[in-house]
Amino acid sequence: MSNIPSIPHRTIVAPNEGPHLLITGGVHGDEWEPMAAARRLISLFEKSIERGKVTIAPVVNEAAFARAWRTAEDDVDLARVCPGNAEGSITHRTAVALTSLIQSADCYIDLHTAGTRLSMLSMSGYCLHRDANILDAQRRMARAFNLPIVWGTSPNLHGRSLSVARDANVPAIYTELGGGGMCSAQGTDDYVNGCLNVAADLGLIPARSPENRVKYIVEDDRDQSGHLQIQHPASVAGYFEPAVTLGDVVRKGDTLGAILDPLGENPVAVNCLDDGLVLMLRACPSVQKGDALCCLLPITEPGEVRIRG
Ligand SMILES: [Zn+2]
Repeated sequence: MSNIPSIPHRTIVAPNEGPHLLITGGVHGDEWEPMAAARRLISLFEKSIERGKVTIAPVVNEAAFARAWRTAEDDVDLARVCPGNAEGSITHRTAVALTSLIQSADCYIDLHTAGTRLSMLSMSGYCLHRDANILDAQRRMARAFNLPIVWGTSPNLHGRSLSVARDANVPAIYTELGGGGMCSAQGTDDYVNGCLNVAADLGLIPARSPENRVKYIVEDDRDQSGHLQIQHPASVAGYFEPAVTLGDVVRKGDTLGAILDPLGENPVAVNCLDDGLVLMLRACPSVQKGDALCCLLPITEPGEVRIRG
Protein backbone atom coordinates (compact mmCIF):
# COMPACT_ATOMS: atom_id res chain seq x y z
CA MET A 1 0.00 0.00 0.00
CA SER A 2 3.07 2.27 0.02
CA ASN A 3 2.11 3.94 -3.25
CA ILE A 4 -1.30 4.90 -1.84
CA PRO A 5 -1.20 8.53 -0.63
CA SER A 6 -2.19 9.05 2.99
CA ILE A 7 -5.06 11.51 3.27
CA PRO A 8 -4.49 13.94 6.18
CA HIS A 9 -7.25 13.44 8.73
CA ARG A 10 -8.16 13.54 12.41
CA THR A 11 -10.41 11.09 14.24
CA ILE A 12 -12.10 12.34 17.41
CA VAL A 13 -13.49 9.62 19.66
CA ALA A 14 -16.17 10.19 22.31
CA PRO A 15 -16.23 8.34 25.63
CA ASN A 16 -19.58 6.74 24.71
CA GLU A 17 -20.54 4.37 21.90
CA GLY A 18 -22.19 5.79 18.79
CA PRO A 19 -21.97 6.05 15.02
CA HIS A 20 -18.79 6.93 13.12
CA LEU A 21 -19.32 10.03 10.97
CA LEU A 22 -16.87 10.84 8.17
CA ILE A 23 -16.60 14.42 6.84
CA THR A 24 -14.44 15.16 3.78
CA GLY A 25 -13.47 18.33 1.92
CA GLY A 26 -11.14 18.93 -0.97
CA VAL A 27 -12.07 15.95 -3.14
CA HIS A 28 -11.61 18.67 -5.76
CA GLY A 29 -8.55 20.86 -5.22
CA ASP A 30 -10.19 24.24 -5.96
CA GLU A 31 -13.04 24.13 -3.44
CA TRP A 32 -12.16 26.26 -0.40
CA GLU A 33 -15.11 26.48 1.99
CA PRO A 34 -15.09 22.70 2.63
CA MET A 35 -11.41 22.84 3.62
CA ALA A 36 -11.92 25.86 5.90
CA ALA A 37 -15.06 24.42 7.49
CA ALA A 38 -13.55 20.97 8.04
CA ARG A 39 -10.48 22.45 9.75
CA ARG A 40 -12.73 24.41 12.12
CA LEU A 41 -14.85 21.35 12.80
CA ILE A 42 -11.86 19.44 14.23
CA SER A 43 -11.61 21.71 17.28
CA LEU A 44 -15.39 22.10 17.59
CA PHE A 45 -15.86 18.31 17.75
CA GLU A 46 -12.97 17.98 20.18
CA LYS A 47 -14.93 20.22 22.55
CA SER A 48 -18.43 18.87 21.98
CA ILE A 49 -18.46 15.18 21.01
CA GLU A 50 -20.41 12.98 23.45
CA ARG A 51 -21.05 9.77 21.53
CA GLY A 52 -19.48 7.86 18.66
CA LYS A 53 -16.61 9.25 16.63
CA VAL A 54 -15.98 11.62 13.78
CA THR A 55 -13.23 11.48 11.17
CA ILE A 56 -12.46 14.74 9.38
CA ALA A 57 -10.34 15.02 6.23
CA PRO A 58 -10.24 18.68 5.10
CA VAL A 59 -8.14 18.14 1.94
CA VAL A 60 -8.65 14.70 0.39
CA ASN A 61 -7.00 15.54 -2.92
CA GLU A 62 -3.70 17.19 -1.94
CA ALA A 63 -2.24 16.79 -5.42
CA ALA A 64 -5.11 18.83 -6.88
CA PHE A 65 -4.98 21.38 -4.04
CA ALA A 66 -1.29 21.97 -4.78
CA ARG A 67 -2.33 23.06 -8.29
CA ALA A 68 -5.35 25.07 -7.02
CA TRP A 69 -7.32 23.07 -9.57
CA ARG A 70 -10.19 20.58 -9.66
CA THR A 71 -7.86 17.75 -10.62
CA ALA A 72 -4.26 16.65 -10.05
CA GLU A 73 -1.59 16.66 -12.76
CA ASP A 74 -3.06 13.56 -14.40
CA ASP A 75 -6.26 15.56 -15.19
CA VAL A 76 -8.41 12.73 -13.83
CA ASP A 77 -11.50 13.72 -11.80
CA LEU A 78 -11.36 12.03 -8.39
CA ALA A 79 -15.17 12.07 -8.29
CA ARG A 80 -15.34 9.91 -11.42
CA VAL A 81 -12.81 7.14 -10.69
CA CYS A 82 -13.74 5.87 -7.24
CA PRO A 83 -13.08 3.22 -5.90
CA GLY A 84 -9.79 3.78 -7.72
CA ASN A 85 -6.87 1.59 -8.70
CA ALA A 86 -3.77 1.02 -6.57
CA GLU A 87 -1.64 0.69 -9.72
CA GLY A 88 -3.04 3.77 -11.45
CA SER A 89 -1.99 7.44 -11.57
CA ILE A 90 -2.10 9.70 -8.50
CA THR A 91 -5.87 10.34 -8.65
CA HIS A 92 -6.70 6.64 -8.99
CA ARG A 93 -4.47 5.96 -5.97
CA THR A 94 -6.06 8.81 -3.96
CA ALA A 95 -9.44 7.24 -4.78
CA VAL A 96 -8.26 3.99 -3.16
CA ALA A 97 -7.39 5.88 0.04
CA LEU A 98 -10.71 7.79 0.01
CA THR A 99 -12.63 4.55 -0.55
CA SER A 100 -11.06 2.99 2.52
CA LEU A 101 -12.03 6.03 4.65
CA ILE A 102 -15.63 5.82 3.40
CA GLN A 103 -15.87 2.07 3.97
CA SER A 104 -14.73 2.52 7.58
CA ALA A 105 -17.57 4.97 8.38
CA ASP A 106 -21.22 4.53 9.39
CA CYS A 107 -22.34 7.77 7.73
CA TYR A 108 -20.68 10.27 5.45
CA ILE A 109 -20.80 13.98 4.48
CA ASP A 110 -18.78 15.02 1.40
CA LEU A 111 -18.42 18.82 1.19
CA HIS A 112 -17.98 20.41 -2.26
CA THR A 113 -18.35 23.80 -3.93
CA ALA A 114 -18.81 24.93 -7.50
CA GLY A 115 -15.03 25.46 -7.72
CA THR A 116 -13.32 28.10 -9.83
CA ARG A 117 -15.33 27.89 -13.05
CA LEU A 118 -18.94 27.40 -11.87
CA SER A 119 -21.23 28.99 -9.27
CA MET A 120 -24.07 27.31 -7.38
CA LEU A 121 -26.95 27.77 -4.97
CA SER A 122 -26.40 26.09 -1.60
CA MET A 123 -27.70 22.52 -1.57
CA SER A 124 -27.34 19.09 -0.05
CA GLY A 125 -27.85 15.99 -2.15
CA TYR A 126 -28.00 12.21 -2.03
CA CYS A 127 -28.62 9.30 -4.35
CA LEU A 128 -32.05 7.66 -4.38
CA HIS A 129 -30.72 4.52 -2.71
CA ARG A 130 -32.62 1.30 -3.36
CA ASP A 131 -32.53 0.39 0.33
CA ALA A 132 -35.43 2.25 1.94
CA ASN A 133 -33.72 2.55 5.35
CA ILE A 134 -30.57 4.04 3.85
CA LEU A 135 -32.63 6.37 1.66
CA ASP A 136 -34.53 7.57 4.73
CA ALA A 137 -31.28 8.13 6.64
CA GLN A 138 -29.91 10.15 3.70
CA ARG A 139 -33.08 12.23 3.40
CA ARG A 140 -32.86 12.98 7.09
CA MET A 141 -29.17 13.95 6.92
CA ALA A 142 -29.74 16.19 3.88
CA ARG A 143 -32.64 18.03 5.56
CA ALA A 144 -30.79 18.29 8.88
CA PHE A 145 -27.84 19.93 7.09
CA ASN A 146 -30.30 22.80 6.56
CA LEU A 147 -29.30 24.40 3.25
CA PRO A 148 -32.11 25.88 1.09
CA ILE A 149 -32.11 23.07 -1.52
CA VAL A 150 -32.36 19.32 -0.96
CA TRP A 151 -31.83 17.22 -4.09
CA GLY A 152 -32.16 13.45 -4.40
CA THR A 153 -30.81 12.13 -7.70
CA SER A 154 -30.18 9.04 -9.79
CA PRO A 155 -28.69 6.07 -7.92
CA ASN A 156 -26.87 5.09 -11.12
CA LEU A 157 -23.98 7.57 -11.17
CA HIS A 158 -20.61 5.86 -10.84
CA GLY A 159 -17.11 6.76 -9.76
CA ARG A 160 -18.21 9.23 -7.06
CA SER A 161 -17.46 9.23 -3.37
CA LEU A 162 -21.20 8.74 -2.97
CA SER A 163 -21.11 5.72 -5.30
CA VAL A 164 -18.62 4.09 -2.92
CA ALA A 165 -20.88 4.92 0.04
CA ARG A 166 -23.93 3.58 -1.84
CA ASP A 167 -22.18 0.29 -2.60
CA ALA A 168 -20.98 -0.01 1.02
CA ASN A 169 -24.48 0.80 2.36
CA VAL A 170 -23.12 3.86 4.20
CA PRO A 171 -25.76 6.63 4.35
CA ALA A 172 -24.15 9.63 2.64
CA ILE A 173 -24.85 13.16 1.45
CA TYR A 174 -22.84 15.70 -0.51
CA THR A 175 -23.18 19.46 -0.44
CA GLU A 176 -22.51 22.30 -2.88
CA LEU A 177 -22.39 26.08 -2.68
CA GLY A 178 -20.60 29.18 -3.90
CA GLY A 179 -17.82 28.78 -6.43
CA GLY A 180 -16.38 31.38 -8.75
CA GLY A 181 -12.99 30.84 -7.12
CA MET A 182 -14.10 32.50 -3.88
CA CYS A 183 -14.02 31.31 -0.27
CA SER A 184 -17.03 32.97 1.36
CA ALA A 185 -17.20 33.37 5.15
CA GLN A 186 -20.96 32.74 4.99
CA GLY A 187 -20.44 29.54 3.02
CA THR A 188 -17.85 28.31 5.49
CA ASP A 189 -20.19 29.08 8.42
CA ASP A 190 -23.05 27.30 6.64
CA TYR A 191 -20.86 24.20 6.23
CA VAL A 192 -19.69 24.24 9.85
CA ASN A 193 -23.29 24.58 11.06
CA GLY A 194 -24.59 22.02 8.58
CA CYS A 195 -22.13 19.35 9.74
CA LEU A 196 -22.91 20.13 13.40
CA ASN A 197 -26.66 19.90 12.66
CA VAL A 198 -26.23 16.44 11.13
CA ALA A 199 -23.91 15.32 13.97
CA ALA A 200 -26.49 16.49 16.51
CA ASP A 201 -29.27 14.66 14.66
CA LEU A 202 -27.12 11.48 14.76
CA GLY A 203 -26.62 11.96 18.52
CA LEU A 204 -22.86 12.65 18.41
CA ILE A 205 -23.15 16.10 19.98
CA PRO A 206 -25.89 17.83 22.01
CA ALA A 207 -29.15 18.67 20.20
CA ARG A 208 -29.38 21.84 18.12
CA SER A 209 -32.55 23.47 16.86
CA PRO A 210 -31.70 25.81 14.00
CA GLU A 211 -34.46 27.71 12.21
CA ASN A 212 -35.49 25.70 9.12
CA ARG A 213 -33.86 27.03 5.92
CA VAL A 214 -34.92 24.21 3.57
CA LYS A 215 -37.05 25.72 0.80
CA TYR A 216 -36.92 23.40 -2.21
CA ILE A 217 -36.92 19.59 -2.09
CA VAL A 218 -36.55 17.72 -5.39
CA GLU A 219 -36.22 13.99 -5.94
CA ASP A 220 -35.45 13.04 -9.53
CA ASP A 221 -34.45 9.48 -10.36
CA ARG A 222 -33.93 9.99 -14.10
CA ASP A 223 -30.55 8.75 -15.32
CA GLN A 224 -27.97 11.55 -15.24
CA SER A 225 -29.98 13.72 -12.85
CA GLY A 226 -27.35 15.10 -10.52
CA HIS A 227 -24.69 15.20 -13.23
CA LEU A 228 -23.93 18.94 -13.25
CA GLN A 229 -21.27 18.98 -15.94
CA ILE A 230 -23.49 18.03 -18.88
CA GLN A 231 -26.41 20.49 -18.88
CA HIS A 232 -26.76 23.29 -21.43
CA PRO A 233 -23.43 22.62 -23.16
CA ALA A 234 -21.87 25.54 -25.06
CA SER A 235 -22.42 25.12 -28.81
CA VAL A 236 -19.31 27.20 -29.62
CA ALA A 237 -16.27 28.55 -27.80
CA GLY A 238 -16.23 32.20 -26.71
CA TYR A 239 -17.22 34.63 -23.96
CA PHE A 240 -20.32 33.49 -22.05
CA GLU A 241 -22.51 36.35 -20.85
CA PRO A 242 -25.41 35.06 -18.72
CA ALA A 243 -28.82 36.77 -18.83
CA VAL A 244 -29.98 35.08 -15.61
CA THR A 245 -28.64 34.75 -12.07
CA LEU A 246 -28.64 31.92 -9.57
CA GLY A 247 -32.10 31.37 -8.09
CA ASP A 248 -34.02 32.77 -11.08
CA VAL A 249 -37.05 30.78 -12.20
CA VAL A 250 -36.95 30.26 -15.98
CA ARG A 251 -39.19 28.64 -18.61
CA LYS A 252 -38.31 26.46 -21.57
CA GLY A 253 -37.12 28.67 -24.45
CA ASP A 254 -36.19 31.65 -22.23
CA THR A 255 -32.82 33.24 -22.91
CA LEU A 256 -30.11 32.01 -20.55
CA GLY A 257 -27.42 34.14 -22.09
CA ALA A 258 -25.20 34.36 -25.13
CA ILE A 259 -21.75 33.32 -26.27
CA LEU A 260 -19.88 36.24 -27.82
CA ASP A 261 -16.87 36.63 -30.07
CA PRO A 262 -14.23 39.24 -29.12
CA LEU A 263 -16.17 42.14 -30.70
CA GLY A 264 -19.60 40.80 -29.65
CA GLU A 265 -20.81 40.91 -33.23
CA ASN A 266 -22.07 37.38 -33.68
CA PRO A 267 -23.81 36.42 -30.42
CA VAL A 268 -24.91 32.79 -30.18
CA ALA A 269 -28.02 32.60 -28.01
CA VAL A 270 -28.23 30.04 -25.21
CA ASN A 271 -31.84 29.07 -24.43
CA CYS A 272 -33.41 27.17 -21.55
CA LEU A 273 -34.09 23.53 -22.41
CA ASP A 274 -36.66 23.19 -19.62
CA ASP A 275 -38.59 24.99 -16.89
CA GLY A 276 -36.75 25.30 -13.60
CA LEU A 277 -34.72 27.10 -11.00
CA VAL A 278 -31.20 28.22 -11.96
CA LEU A 279 -29.12 26.01 -9.63
CA MET A 280 -25.72 26.25 -11.31
CA LEU A 281 -24.28 28.84 -13.66
CA ARG A 282 -20.93 29.09 -15.40
CA ALA A 283 -18.89 31.68 -13.45
CA CYS A 284 -15.85 31.79 -15.73
CA PRO A 285 -16.73 33.64 -18.98
CA SER A 286 -14.17 31.82 -21.11
CA VAL A 287 -15.92 28.73 -22.49
CA GLN A 288 -14.98 25.92 -24.81
CA LYS A 289 -17.48 24.04 -26.97
CA GLY A 290 -19.24 21.48 -24.76
CA ASP A 291 -18.69 23.25 -21.41
CA ALA A 292 -21.78 23.17 -19.16
CA LEU A 293 -23.24 26.69 -18.89
CA CYS A 294 -26.23 26.19 -16.60
CA CYS A 295 -28.02 23.52 -14.60
CA LEU A 296 -31.73 23.85 -13.82
CA LEU A 297 -33.38 22.26 -10.83
CA PRO A 298 -36.77 20.92 -12.03
CA ILE A 299 -38.87 23.02 -9.62
CA THR A 300 -40.39 26.48 -10.09
CA GLU A 301 -41.77 27.39 -6.64
CA PRO A 302 -40.88 26.57 -3.04
CA GLY A 303 -42.03 23.10 -1.97
CA GLU A 304 -41.44 19.50 -2.88
CA VAL A 305 -41.31 17.75 -6.28
CA ARG A 306 -40.78 14.05 -7.02
CA ILE A 307 -39.93 12.99 -10.58
CA ARG A 308 -39.83 9.31 -11.44
CA GLY A 309 -38.10 8.38 -14.69
ZN1 LIG B 1 -16.34 19.17 -6.01
